[in-house]
Amino acid sequence: MSADNWTLCPTCYAAWRERETQLFTDAMNAYGKVGEREYHEIQASAKAFSAKQPERTLREDWDIGTDEDGQFAVDYRSSCNSCDYAFNYKVTLSPEEIVQHNAEQPKDTISIAARRLGRRTR
Ligand SMILES: [Zn+2]
Repeated sequence: MSADNWTLCPTCYAAWRERETQLFTDAMNAYGKVGEREYHEIQASAKAFSAKQPERTLREDWDIGTDEDGQFAVDYRSSCNSCDYAFNYKVTLSPEEIVQHNAEQPKDTISIAARRLGRRTR
């Protein structure tokens, strides 16, 4: 199994939100201090920026599944094509580890991944 997706980069999205906030703050601060026409231009610029959605610059690829030998693996990779944000995560569970996991915490599928993060990531 594999998949890919383009989504919002958390770093770029934070910068976009900061820019959006700054533009509206600039418009608010300009009120009464600049001419009416200039004020409306500043306000229109902020609204135009806000109306244009941020680009989806983060490519995500992942593989997840259980192979014929019973080994379960999650392999997630992401990187932004606009900034240096990247995140990779990989965990593999042997059939024995899955049995142990099911015996210990049959209803908890997330905690084992968190516990194993430091030991088995590559
Ligand atoms: Zn980015």
